Amino acid sequence: MDMETLRFSYESHLFRAIVARFGPVPLVNHDHSKQLLSARRRDLLGDAVRVTEDLLPEVHTIWQDCLNKLEGGLQGELFVRQSPEYNASVFAHEKRFDILIHSALLNDFSFDELRFVFGHELGHVVFQHSQFPVRDLYPLVKDRDPEGSVMLLRWSQAAEVSADRIGMLCCGQLGAAATALFRTASGLSGMDENRALRAFRNQYSELEVQLRSAADRAAWVRTHPMIPIRFKAIELAALDLIALGKGSGGFSAKGFQRIDQQISATLESLEFRPHFPH
Ligand SMILES: [Zn+2]
Repeated sequence: MDMETLRFSYESHLFRAIVARFGPVPLVNHDHSKQLLSARRRDLLGDAVRVTEDLLPEVHTIWQDCLNKLEGGLQGELFVRQSPEYNASVFAHEKRFDILIHSALLNDFSFDELRFVFGHELGHVVFQHSQFPVRDLYPLVKDRDPEGSVMLLRWSQAAEVSADRIGMLCCGQLGAAATALFRTASGLSGMDENRALRAFRNQYSELEVQLRSAADRAAWVRTHPMIPIRFKAIELAALDLIALGKGSGGFSAKGFQRIDQQISATLESLEFRPHFPH
């Protein structure tokens, strides 16, 4: 299975549009990125705790399961650091990476929810998102080219949708993926998955109406897409991704193109559309 098939096509479209606008996009320099990874690893070894089989056997097992599902020779480790915030981050250089996960996630999330979180972070590695430093580029173009800078943020949002697909592939269940997102958004625990699913479905419908009627632009100047849209993208792709994760066949690249069109139409229907190149 070529993971590239799973990349949200709107992400690739935006990347090409950015290259067309700015010229060759400055990807993180190869040597520099290698140095960044080793500096980060030093910090992690100094300030965080490495999750090993001996320390947390169950967590380590599901972590290994996720890695095995992805194949492709990815090599990296998982670290945990004390923090009450539901968050995780990754830095990668080629196939090497390190993932940092906040302790609240390991303490509060179910193993299935953690599969989604691990898969999401590994998704950033699979799609090499670390290569394209939006956070560094954005301040440089923000004032000079407001529309271009919005494209950078949109790319970053689209990259989250791509990463969520790998999360879903590792997790293999829509319910756990939904409650993982739900808990991240709401901070509430112990939520029945059907309630979480209903909450997201309703909120997505309302969000669509809201975004069509009002110019709620400021909300979109952020690097992560609103959680209900991420949920919708996961829900639409769920059956295909579950089939793929089980290796049971039934994955359809054509079906994926349709899903991509629907989600990118939602993202595009927001603000700035008149200026957006196609
Ligand atoms: Zn992410």
